[in-house]
Amino acid sequence: MTSAPRLRIAIVGGGIGGLCLAVALSKHADIQIDLYEAAGQFSEIGAGVMFWARTWKIFEQLGLADDLAKVAGAPVDEALSIGLDFRRSDAPTPGSRFAVFRSPYGCIRFHRAHFLDVLVDHLPKGVAHFGKRLASYSETAEGVELAFTDGSSASFDVLIGCDGIKSTIRKQMYEEEASKGKPHLLQHVDPIWSGTMTYRSLIPAERLQEVAGHKHRVMDDAIVYCGKSKHVVSYGIGKGANIVNLVAIFSDPKDEGKPFEGPWVVDCSPDDVRKAFQGWEPEVQQLLTCVDKATLWSLHFLRPLPFYVTSRVALLGDAAHAMLPHQGAGAGQAIEDAYILANILGDPSVTPATISHALKAYEDVRLPFANARVEDSRVNGLLYQFNSEHEDRLETLGPTLENRWNWLWETSLEEEVQQALGILGAKLQPTTWEMSKL
Ligand SMILES: Cc1cc2nc3c(=O)[nH]c(=O)nc-3n(C[C@H](O)[C@H](O)[C@H](O)COP(=O)(O)OP(=O)(O)OC[C@H]3O[C@@H](n4cnc5c(N)ncnc54)[C@H](O)[C@@H]3O)c2cc1C
Repeated sequence: MTSAPRLRIAIVGGGIGGLCLAVALSKHADIQIDLYEAAGQFSEIGAGVMFWARTWKIFEQLGLADDLAKVAGAPVDEALSIGLDFRRSDAPTPGSRFAVFRSPYGCIRFHRAHFLDVLVDHLPKGVAHFGKRLASYSETAEGVELAFTDGSSASFDVLIGCDGIKSTIRKQMYEEEASKGKPHLLQHVDPIWSGTMTYRSLIPAERLQEVAGHKHRVMDDAIVYCGKSKHVVSYGIGKGANIVNLVAIFSDPKDEGKPFEGPWVVDCSPDDVRKAFQGWEPEVQQLLTCVDKATLWSLHFLRPLPFYVTSRVALLGDAAHAMLPHQGAGAGQAIEDAYILANILGDPSVTPATISHALKAYEDVRLPFANARVEDSRVNGLLYQFNSEHEDRLETLGPTLENRWNWLWETSLEEEVQQALGILGAKLQPTTWEMSKL
């Protein structure tokens, strides 16, 4: 950058959301970006992640699609194909399909580490700062001051909190607003336990083929095996789907909202996983037989937030709308946030003087959409586990499930970008807006 930047943006948190935002903002030469990550390097857990067509369109726009296609667990193809294939599986005899959600591109799936590597490869040099844990920030009329736990500080025009479900930035934002006579806002500081736990494991595809004696169904498609208060999701990831991602979930809906004591992730014994799904159909048993190592996660989510931004600070990704994984949508929504926000901040009308309007336009477009996904994801969990009003009446449950992803087609990302820019234009003084377009 040769002249002074139009905007100086701090991104705190280098997960999928923060990295994607940095990559998207790096397309704008007049913006200075600094990304602060608490850990010593970018990293993702050993597990799978799935995306839908909406997110793929963003990858195309950001120039990531070719590299991502090389590491996807299945060929990425616009044709209509299986997104998720639902079976009733909670008996020892072979189960059967009761619903299929189909979509252009089907289920686009990756090993998380491979996915993250592609984002990192597209990040310009010098943007990332590691070992920098944000302790607090202060918003002034001139900018935002960041204070890190190592005693250092930095100033910016705007701060984007991409610091995950336990966000330090959300905590400070909501505590400060609550202290202005709105104590009810404190309910948004801490995530809620969903009453749901999940085992996660990766299985070598070769071993699964040996155990099954043939190519297992999960090598071709993402399968959801359903039963009362439990379900299993499995699909192939890695080059040629050489790894199988396994997520085995169990719930007690009565526990939702109860305090969860202890660490959110612990190692567990493979036998625990097998015991939890004893008596399920043979192809689930084949998957479980292959589990050598597993972790047990408690699943939390956020009560839908009433705001994502203050004047110079915005929340993005799980910091804003952490949701349960039952729509395969949390990371996709973080990426939608990043894409829309980068398009808004990339507009030449946005300067330190107009930043609060820009953040508000982001919130106006993203908050209703992403908050709706938080609730959708929670409801999907109830549907998968026969805990909704449909219980296990598959004749009504099936069609209901097949329509749970209609939001993918409700709007397009380009319409949302235009909507946000329209909101921004309307918020700015007409003269400023018009001048910037000259
Ligand atoms: C079992 C399970 C399965 C899932 N499957 C899917 C799926 O298939 N598809 C999908 O779209 N989503 C899925 N999700 C959700 C998805 O994983 C998350 O929504 C997504 O990873 C959130 O990304 P993020 O960048 O917002 O947050 P995070 O990934 O949590 O990143 C936050 C980053 O901020 C850093 N950080 C935290 N505090 C600070 C601080 N104070 N200072 C500096 N840095 C800080 C952290 O070190 C971390 O790197 C799943 C979730 C679970 C639990």
